[in-house]
Amino acid sequence: MRRFFLHTFGCQMNVSDSQRMAEVLRRMKMEPTPVAKNADLIILNTCSIREKAEEKVLSALGRYREVKLSRGARIGVGGCVAQQEKERLLRRVPYVDFVFGPDAISKLPEILRRVEARERVVETAWIDSEEYVFPRADPESTRGRVTEFVTVMKGCDNVCSFCVVPHTRGREVSRPCGEVLAEVAGLTGVGVREVTLIGQNVNSYRGGIGFAELLLRVAEVPGIDRVRFTTSHPHDLSDALIEAVGSQPKIAPHFHLPIQSGSDRVLERMRRDYTVAEYLERLSRLRAARPGIAVTTDIIAGFPGETEDDFQLTLELTEEVRYENQYSFVFSSRPKTAAAMREEQWGAVPHELKLERLERVQKLQRRIGGEIMAAQIGRQVEVLVEGPSKLDPSKRFGRTPENRTVNFEGDAPAGALARVLVRRSSPNALYGEQAAISSEPRVRVEERPGAELCVA
Ligand code: SF4
Repeated sequence: MRRFFLHTFGCQMNVSDSQRMAEVLRRMKMEPTPVAKNADLIILNTCSIREKAEEKVLSALGRYREVKLSRGARIGVGGCVAQQEKERLLRRVPYVDFVFGPDAISKLPEILRRVEARERVVETAWIDSEEYVFPRADPESTRGRVTEFVTVMKGCDNVCSFCVVPHTRGREVSRPCGEVLAEVAGLTGVGVREVTLIGQNVNSYRGGIGFAELLLRVAEVPGIDRVRFTTSHPHDLSDALIEAVGSQPKIAPHFHLPIQSGSDRVLERMRRDYTVAEYLERLSRLRAARPGIAVTTDIIAGFPGETEDDFQLTLELTEEVRYENQYSFVFSSRPKTAAAMREEQWGAVPHELKLERLERVQKLQRRIGGEIMAAQIGRQVEVLVEGPSKLDPSKRFGRTPENRTVNFEGDAPAGALARVLVRRSSPNALYGEQAAISSEPRVRVEERPGAELCVA
């Protein structure tokens, strides 16, 4: 096996895990290929957060079967669907050679040796949290990018009734803070100026220090200009975290704080462990500590038993909070979750009604998002330049501290901080022209298109 093709589905954690997989395979003297039909090894790093995500995996597997038939490529499935389905996946998809869970990335060399010996492998055992070692990132695989994800924890100890993550990612394990700080320092050496600390429930981090302290220490690493983090749980939005976000300007003024529903009755069934009033109280203290902070959230439409009155509360909350953006989806019943077991008892919401409610909240959010973005027109904003715009390669692309996407005319190199005059906006992006370069790149980065990893 000389060349590998990695197909990544889902969240930032999966994108980061795929990078670790690529590093393991490169150390085995394999080379990445961006084209599946040229690969000797195809790995799908999968997501099972919603039914649709799982269906996408199965249809992708169908496409890759041709590569196996034509050139004998090996096919492996990793990530959350692998952890959820285990050996059932080998029975369900007979041409899959191996299935491995998120805890087994470092075991890939041994797994591939067994596959080469014609064994079909299932490696989904959890590693005890005391013994779990987080894969260490090789900064060289980041060279060419100015922003990077840094994994600080894995798993989740919460039991939100709709969520499959605790079943597919296991119990919470926090990465020792020394490892996190060393990785961040290594990344600045290849030109990274912004890091995003990631975990399923990042603000319950306990890697020798608390999360607020970790954020402050990462912000002090020489060469770091911006620190982001995701995903937070409202019940872990502590005073210390609010204080840190309020006092350290390098902590980016963007906070992703999933609410999921505006109805306390629904939140209780979701087992979210906060009320709307508690959420709003914490949010108002965060906004007081960091005026102008951009807040985004997650919304589920059509949770079992959700009435029109419940949903009205979600719309009213959206109007009241005025989120920068929302990631909203219809409820999707997931295996082994409490909501799946009680869907009938609570009363399943018909699919058409779920979609109708989703459209209503998305329409409202588009209006609010559009107003927030339009308010930037005529202002100069600071942009960390990431490279050519994906929309129009003749333009430049980057993001503001609030995580707003900016496409602009100019010549600022990747890694520079540029001042951009905003001329136009849409609900999800700003458009403008370069006014000045306020800071040159610390390390000249050779721009390259998206990583060699296929991200779906
Ligand atoms: S906190 Fe997030 S990852 Fe954890 S169970 Fe709840 S929704 Fe899932």
